[in-house]
Amino acid sequence: MDLSFTPAEEAFRADCRAWLEANVPRPPLPSGDTREGFTAHLAWERKLFDVRYAVVSWPREYGGRDASLWEWLIFEEEYYRAGAPQRVTQNGIFLLAPTIFTFGTDEQKRRILPKMAAGEQTWCQGWSEPNAGSDLAGIQSKAVRDDAQGGWRLSGQKTWTTRGAFCTHLFGLFRSDPGAERHRGLTYFLVDLTTPGVTVRGVERLDGDEGFAEVFLDDVFVADTDVLGEPNQGWSVAMATTGSERGLTLRSPGRFLATAQRLIDLARDRGGEDARRDAIVAAYIDAEAYRWQTFWTVTRLVEGASTGPESSMVKVFWSELDVQLHELALELLGPHAELLDGPDAAWMKGYEFALAGPIYAGTNEIQRNVIAERVLGLPRA
Ligand SMILES: Cc1cc2nc3c(=O)[nH]c(=O)nc-3n(C[C@H](O)[C@H](O)[C@H](O)COP(=O)(O)OP(=O)(O)OC[C@H]3O[C@@H](n4cnc5c(N)ncnc54)[C@H](O)[C@@H]3O)c2cc1C
Repeated sequence: MDLSFTPAEEAFRADCRAWLEANVPRPPLPSGDTREGFTAHLAWERKLFDVRYAVVSWPREYGGRDASLWEWLIFEEEYYRAGAPQRVTQNGIFLLAPTIFTFGTDEQKRRILPKMAAGEQTWCQGWSEPNAGSDLAGIQSKAVRDDAQGGWRLSGQKTWTTRGAFCTHLFGLFRSDPGAERHRGLTYFLVDLTTPGVTVRGVERLDGDEGFAEVFLDDVFVADTDVLGEPNQGWSVAMATTGSERGLTLRSPGRFLATAQRLIDLARDRGGEDARRDAIVAAYIDAEAYRWQTFWTVTRLVEGASTGPESSMVKVFWSELDVQLHELALELLGPHAELLDGPDAAWMKGYEFALAGPIYAGTNEIQRNVIAERVLGLPRA
């Protein structure tokens, strides 16, 4: 087994590092979950796109570099190491795009992927509803066939759509066959949020950011060409999205390696590390362990396997690690952790967001049910 990167991969790493060091915005951009910050982030993402760093692993025809998944991991490590901005396009490029590559028609790929890569179309995820979160198959928003127009009419309400207040498009699940078994009667739609009948209402978060939205649909027409996968097969298409989200693309190891390194720097800088030395070392080892676990995942993907229910274990691991890393930082900072401005403020903001990790992408309780039933083969709860 050869655990080292090739000279070509190391050269790619050096190129990424040099470009990012020269170009990452300083001071950091305002939060991408505010309107002002979202616009600034899109300008940054356009800069990435122009040098083909926006979607390195995609084919060149869609704006990528045809890079391998290994090179994508390297890019991500360098991206976070450089302290580069969060990707406000992430729900499109990391969740929807892998699903389009698997289930999309050639026409959908050509029409959607280049604009997504360039940040010209921004996508939010429209799955959750007021009465369908953990119980995703309980979705009530409906899709009614419109044969005359060659499409569907969507009605209902979506909630907790991240950055939905600023995005141009939504991918979502709708009940297209009310008579079918719950998981079978769903269809995966791609919706332009400027279509008549769509109302987007922003929801302010506790931290003041305003990117969350509720999306209301009232008899919204969507053409057949904007169905992803087959009608009434939306559940299996959606499960492919969750595999990416939980198991690989949404939270790559580079994010946690960089946070662990910042934690060590903080401990060295502020002192107080003696009392927390074991916990800091354990958190660093966990970040490294996640890196090696991801290498295993990528090895399997490169060999043609899919992420599978093991992605639930990965999701529990990275979300709890994120909380652990930030809690340790707050302990080191003591009362300074409460300061809203200055160099330390990012830790509290990061902590608040880390607390959401065990909730979004499917709660950790639900992931533990999946692990029990589908990985360990235990009886259903
Ligand atoms: C930061 C953030 C971003 C999000 N972004 C999006 C987005 O972009 N698009 C989108 O569609 N949704 C998004 N969500 C919504 C998220 O997917 C849901 O909050 C999540 O699935 C839980 O659903 P719920 O809030 O309805 O809670 P509920 O499903 O009501 O669950 C409440 C509690 O009960 C527990 N529970 C429920 N059922 C079981 C069970 N069978 N066994 C054990 N415990 C159970 C849950 O774990 C949870 O602790 C986001 C959420 C957050 C926090």
